[in-house]
Amino acid sequence: MNAQPTRPLPQQTLALLIIGAGFSGLATGIRCRQEGIGPFAIVEKGDGIGGTWHENTYPGAACDIPSHLYSLSYVPKHDWSRLYPQQAEIAAYLRETARDHGLLPHLHLGTAVTGAAWDEAQSLWRVETSRGPVRARAIVSGMGGLHHPALPDIPGRESFSGTAFHSATWDHACDLGGKRIGVIGTGASAIQFVPEIAKEAAHLTLFQRTPAWIMPKHDRAIGARAKAAYRFVPFARRLFRERLFWIHELRALMGFTKVSKLTGQAEAMARRHLARAVPDKALREKLTPRYRLGCKRVLISDDFYPAMMRPNVSLETGRIARITPEGVVMQDGGAHALDVIVYATGFDLTGSFRTLDIVGRGGLTLAQAWRDGMGAFQGITVAGFPNLFLMMGPNTGLGHNSMILMIEAQVEHALSCLKALARQGRTAIEVRPEAQARFLADVQGRLSDSIWQAGGCTSWYQNEQGRNTAIWPGSVLAYRRGARRARLSDYRVS
Ligand code: NAP
Repeated sequence: MNAQPTRPLPQQTLALLIIGAGFSGLATGIRCRQEGIGPFAIVEKGDGIGGTWHENTYPGAACDIPSHLYSLSYVPKHDWSRLYPQQAEIAAYLRETARDHGLLPHLHLGTAVTGAAWDEAQSLWRVETSRGPVRARAIVSGMGGLHHPALPDIPGRESFSGTAFHSATWDHACDLGGKRIGVIGTGASAIQFVPEIAKEAAHLTLFQRTPAWIMPKHDRAIGARAKAAYRFVPFARRLFRERLFWIHELRALMGFTKVSKLTGQAEAMARRHLARAVPDKALREKLTPRYRLGCKRVLISDDFYPAMMRPNVSLETGRIARITPEGVVMQDGGAHALDVIVYATGFDLTGSFRTLDIVGRGGLTLAQAWRDGMGAFQGITVAGFPNLFLMMGPNTGLGHNSMILMIEAQVEHALSCLKALARQGRTAIEVRPEAQARFLADVQGRLSDSIWQAGGCTSWYQNEQGRNTAIWPGSVLAYRRGARRARLSDYRVS
């Protein structure tokens, strides 16, 4: 179903060009069809539907938000197989969503957007793609920020003579059976695939720079009775989703966005989780974080700590000096001979946006507008860039709840702007610089004493200047209240 005949790109001026066929792009497409906004097209650089869930296929890939919450409110699925969905099931859900909601005729796979320029005279975006130009009155970018694999700047990285790949571009042709594997990084991706590949490795060495706080996952299959209830009694499914929402939302409402007494209690819980699985005191010490819980993304896993106890797994906490053709050499001179290196080193958030050549009003590029750090009104619109809407843009990331809830609000924001344009018979809508500045000052003010800034860690949430351009510092409810519908007083319509 993923294989799409390469259809020609639209020649007419589109009402909307949607970039990306992941959650954001598909949600936008569905809502456009429901609201009669068109013509629109969805362009996707990958060869399939699903965005991050199409690309990240590493063993054990799953979501750490429950399936019934990690899905679109207007595309319910009653028969999720597990409490926490695995990659294949989410990818299948997204493919079915595209098919069932009539999005396939709008979809252009294998079409990467390389740049876009605002044409002031015509009041439209001229978009360059890998398959030719497209014109559109408006753009919704559903690219997200976590699709540019970050490879570590370790001397000699290119010299390694074995197989090396990043977790986001998993080399499934590489047989890991009986191999000496080195994994660099201990974030959300690593803790999911390490237990899987440790089962077949001759030896696995995990190179840890910073240990992560890990909570129990308690994943389970969803039984036939519950599935039947969710199918025949939609209210039961909605109630379950609502319950999941509040369980997660309470973390923000109770104050986990700041260092508090609760932080200590949660840390004690995580330490108990570690102690139950790792009796070895020295190993436990190495796996215990030295920053406050919540500063980096809190991970959930029931099989990562047990994997660290396997006789064929070792944890290396020294600093890597260099990579050689044979493996990894540490600063203390120790060496690890390896057949395979897997980089679980995350993504380059700003790089994902920086590579796009977007030119707004008066020749202003997005890179120039963001030279002091990324920022957007409600994380969605940027002054100087009319009719451009970012999904999962700056400062809308969540540590405590489902991103899908944020995406849905962002889609509604974009659509309310487009509908206002149509109502008023105008062609361009652009956020007022003062509204954007007010929003950013408020967000940065709230972030200044937050757990992400004051929790004693550095993370990819912060840019080179230490400014947090990734995280939304409040509850989903607060975000949705502010973002769901655009207030026209914040915008200039022309
Ligand atoms: P990540 O959380 O950014 O982790 C990267 C890891 O690589 C960290 O342990 C980091 O150490 C380490 N690292 C980076 N550069 C290094 C270097 N030069 N030398 C040694 N170690 C280095 O990346 P990720 O695990 O791919 O996850 C990225 C994001 O994707 C997550 O935060 C999450 O938002 C998303 N994700 C979500 C799920 C889910 O279930 N929803 C699953 C996977 C990923 P330091 O901590 O010291 O920097």
